[in-house]
Amino acid sequence: MATRRPVIAGNWKMYKTVSEAEDYAVKFLEEVKDVTEIDIILCAPFTALYPLKNELEESVVHLGAQNMSWADQGAYTGEISAQMLLDVACTYVILGHSERRELFGETDEEIGKKVQKSLTVGLTPILCVGENLNVREEGNAAEKVQAQVSRALSGLSTEELVRIVIAYEPIWAIGTGKTASSKDAQEMCAAIRTTLTGLMGVSAEIVPILYGGSVKAENIAELMTEPDVDGALVGGASLDPQSFAKLIHNAGSLGERVEGI
Ligand code: PEP
Repeated sequence: MATRRPVIAGNWKMYKTVSEAEDYAVKFLEEVKDVTEIDIILCAPFTALYPLKNELEESVVHLGAQNMSWADQGAYTGEISAQMLLDVACTYVILGHSERRELFGETDEEIGKKVQKSLTVGLTPILCVGENLNVREEGNAAEKVQAQVSRALSGLSTEELVRIVIAYEPIWAIGTGKTASSKDAQEMCAAIRTTLTGLMGVSAEIVPILYGGSVKAENIAELMTEPDVDGALVGGASLDPQSFAKLIHNAGSLGERVEGI
């Protein structure tokens, strides 16, 4: 039997100073310190990671970054290396977020190199994929997302692939208040799992697949009832510690999902 634990990851994007992050950590930890049935991750701006390490180390809240270089070190002005993230106790890193793809021109090839690097050093990548509205309206959403997954993960071994997390985030639902229906989210997460099965066989059942796009405390429970939606990547609704904690409690009450493989 393989177990997929629910995962709820907050993506603060470019919000919060050091003092705001510290204040958040204290309030948030108070609310979630007893949550054991769910993996909680906070993906903060680089400048907040070190102070958050001090607040959250040894707690139930894991620390993640929002991007990372594929290079180890060197003349890469403005970049952050995997070792630097490990140094501040990060265990996760978001890679290929649609804002990185759309606003900063990241390609599947670069994202693939970053995924490989993260796995090599022992960070867990949260690989984001998702289609824009045009692609969805043309009926090509599954095909688009499956191609993103295949391109980013090509060449990885099954031993590496079992350590990844995938986030399906339709671009039209991010920060817009429009959430995919739970049926659409399930359909897309299942399509992603089919692609993973092609890459890694039955071990694909182990990989957590998250939904992201205007997830809130009010809609997480319905999304989590779907068999292939194993959690959420949450932007706007992760910025307030009490309401993000509420979202986590609403998701966590569903408990672990167990799949036979
Ligand atoms: C995100 O940033 O990954 C995201 C899903 O944002 P939001 O929850 O605000 O739509």
